[in-house]
Amino acid sequence: MRSGQAFGELVFPHRCLGCGLLGEQLCTRCLVSWNCLPLLTHVNELVVYSAIMYSPVASRVLLAAKENGILTADNLIVDAMRQAIARPRMDYGTSPLLVPIPSQRHAIRKRGRDFLGEITTRVAGLEGFSTRDLLLHRRRIKDQSMLDAQSRHSNLHNSLVLKENILRVREAILIDDLVTTGATLSEASRALKEAGFSVLCAVTACVAQPLR
Ligand SMILES: [Zn+2]
Repeated sequence: MRSGQAFGELVFPHRCLGCGLLGEQLCTRCLVSWNCLPLLTHVNELVVYSAIMYSPVASRVLLAAKENGILTADNLIVDAMRQAIARPRMDYGTSPLLVPIPSQRHAIRKRGRDFLGEITTRVAGLEGFSTRDLLLHRRRIKDQSMLDAQSRHSNLHNSLVLKENILRVREAILIDDLVTTGATLSEASRALKEAGFSVLCAVTACVAQPLR
C-alpha cells in the first residue's frame, strides 16, 4: 500500500487536501483551518484533549486519510495528535496505555487497513507510549453521522467489550480522530472501567461542535 502511494505521488503531482489546489499538502488558505491549538472539552467527567477545530478542511483531511489512505493526510493527523497529547503526557508521563477506538470490521475491510490503529501506533512510537488495540464491537452499529446526541448514545449503548483482560497496566488514555457528541468515547470509557481500568482522559486530533 505504501509503495503504491509513493508511486502515485511520483506520477500525480501534490494537491492541497483541503481545496485541491496544486502544490503543498495544505495551501496557505486551508492551513488556517488546520491550526494546532490546545483545545479542551468534557464528555461527562472525561476530559478530552484535541488540537484542531473541525471544519470543512479538517473533514476533507480526515476523509482523505480514512477512506483514501493518503499518507500526507495521515501525517497531518499524527502531528495534530502529538500536539493534543502533549498536556496529558506532561501530567501522566508515558505509562498509561493508549487505546484506540476500534473501527467496525466492515470499515477495516473496505479501507484495507485499521486507520486509527495505525495512527495510534505511530503516535505511541513517537511519544514513547505503549498501545494496545483492546476494544471490540460486540455488534454492528448504525452509521452515526446523521444521528443526534441522544440517538448516538442509544446506538452505542453497551456496544464495546474488551478483547482481552490480562494486562498489568491499568491506566488508559482513549484515542480517536474526532470527538463530536462524545458518545463513542463515553461507551469506550464505560467498557474499560467495567474491566477495572482507570481512564485518565481522551485525546483526539479534531473536535467538533456537537449536534444537539
Ligand atoms: Zn487549499
